Amino acid sequence: MSKAIFPGSFDPFTVGHENIVIRGLNIFDHIVIAVGINSEKRGMFTIEQRLDFIHKVFKEYDNVSIETYSGLTVDFAKEIQCTHILRGLRTSADFEFERAIAQVNKQMSGLDTAFLLCSPEHTPVNSSIVRDIVAHGGDASMYVPAAIREELKKIANGRKHL
Ligand code: ADP
Repeated sequence: MSKAIFPGSFDPFTVGHENIVIRGLNIFDHIVIAVGINSEKRGMFTIEQRLDFIHKVFKEYDNVSIETYSGLTVDFAKEIQCTHILRGLRTSADFEFERAIAQVNKQMSGLDTAFLLCSPEHTPVNSSIVRDIVAHGGDASMYVPAAIREELKKIANGRKHL
């Protein structure tokens, strides 16, 4: 069985991430969305919120699971018997950044990284823009999966009056 890990911060999960996972399922039997816990990088959304969002998006999928991890991605990937790492690419800057990481990961673990180019309409979508919009009480719903739109709106509305 082919099993890929899709690692990231997912702070928060966006339509771009959702699209990569859904298309990745045409290639891999199972995808593990792995939320990296980085003690030096405090995100906007708690790990529990991020996991809850992702669970809501993929609640109908039995070939997608969700985990958290800390430490090296390749160590965790091996621990949970993944055969590949899955990543999304938006721009040439993403490519340059990802290339070195993928090559080092391959050297360290033997695990290959599979890249999917993002859909054209998702090129400008990233979690930090969503965080900025939410932080200022704006409506970022078009950038997040349908299953979490209402919840994100509520969070953003709560910020409006701060
Ligand atoms: P990281 O902090 O590891 O970059 P992210 O949560 O930002 O984590 O992204 C996780 C993965 O999703 C990365 O491979 C990233 O390139 C990809 N990704 C992010 N945004 C998009 C998007 N709009 N379309 C396709 N892939 C994306």
